[in-house]
Amino acid sequence: MSATAPITQDVMTIPRKQAEGPMNLVGLTRDAMRAALIAEGTPEKQAKMRVGQIWQWIYQWGTRDFADMTNLSKAFRAELAEKFVIEVPEVVTKQVSEDGTRKYLVRIAGGHEVEVVYIPEEGRGTLCVSSQVGCTLTCSFCHTGTQKLVRNLTAAEIIGQVMVARDDLGEWPVPGTISEAPRLLSNIVLMGMGEPLYNFENVRDAMKIAMDPEGIQLSRRRITLSTSGVVPEIARTAEEIGCQLAVSFHATTDEVRNNLVPINKRWNIAELIEALRAYPRVSNSERITFEYVMLDGVNDSDADAYRLVELIRGIPAKINLIPFNEWPGAPYKRSSNNRIRAFSEIVYQAGYASPVRKPRGEDIMAACGQLKSATERERKSRKQIEADAGM
Ligand code: SAH
Ligand code: SF4
Repeated sequence: MSATAPITQDVMTIPRKQAEGPMNLVGLTRDAMRAALIAEGTPEKQAKMRVGQIWQWIYQWGTRDFADMTNLSKAFRAELAEKFVIEVPEVVTKQVSEDGTRKYLVRIAGGHEVEVVYIPEEGRGTLCVSSQVGCTLTCSFCHTGTQKLVRNLTAAEIIGQVMVARDDLGEWPVPGTISEAPRLLSNIVLMGMGEPLYNFENVRDAMKIAMDPEGIQLSRRRITLSTSGVVPEIARTAEEIGCQLAVSFHATTDEVRNNLVPINKRWNIAELIEALRAYPRVSNSERITFEYVMLDGVNDSDADAYRLVELIRGIPAKINLIPFNEWPGAPYKRSSNNRIRAFSEIVYQAGYASPVRKPRGEDIMAACGQLKSATERERKSRKQIEADAGM
């Protein structure tokens, strides 16, 4: 990150090793787990093999109890149970929408709460994962943006969201077997609460675990990280994670984008586009998703659509139009269906896929941009929201 980046420096980073008590094995990279085992007395020569075994129990079979790791000696299991824990966030509440979307409120260390959303689809299912409690950024159309950032999630808390969702879906295979059924949780999107690129290392480590071929085994093509445009971290995402990238574009002039996505004042549209141009090549991914929230009378004109396709010309892209999801006190309205259709048609005629995202789980406030933890309900005043939105 650039030394002059203004917004992130107040983010509290949680120590990756707990200061006291047994260490959590969840969220550690393979190397870190190996080092932890050696530090607690596992002979160096055995450590790699032990990591492989424990890894498989935790991430392939979903085991939470060392006693169940039957290919390890009883003595070693007892030792592990003394020195380590296998800990995931605690599910506090679960709501199920009429359309099958599930929203979990999970509690993490310090009593903080974040939301995780599971969206079932035909033959697949997507988990929308949070990366921070709240967000330091203040996008004026986003409910999470009205909540103060409390802290970054650890890698354990990020991958732990995937693990508790698999618990709830009953999706861990019986140890020793391989399930042929299509995955219920087949895709991950980092589109929950928070800006993933302001919590880079933890997000990276968690996604590496999700992609590990001996664990949860999701292909990097099934993981999409959405950023508001933290330009210096985009190249790093390509190199160190290699997942699919989505960008919260939302406007076609700097003037409007400054109001909607204030990080644009730090890295403007031209700088963002330049970083995005390099992404598909470096990450060897197909195309970038441009997310575009449809706000009535703000960014949804024909002229916007034409400007948009001009701006992104030459970038392999799909444009995902998101009808604005309202939340209490929001200073915007959703564009009409006709307007969204007209916008989509212009983009499509220019040669880009332009799907309109179907809001899911609206009845349980689980749709994009509606997440906000119950512990942090207190909202900025309407005046503040309007001031941020430049209204
Ligand atoms: N912080 C990241 C990821 C989380 S938001 C980012 O901003 O990209 C996931 C997507 O939902 C983003 O494109 C975001 O701009 C969009 N979004 C936020 N609030 C919304 C709302 N009220 N209605 C529709 N989309 C919204
Ligand atoms: Fe944060 Fe993304 Fe919401 Fe902006 S849209 S406030 S970056 S979560």
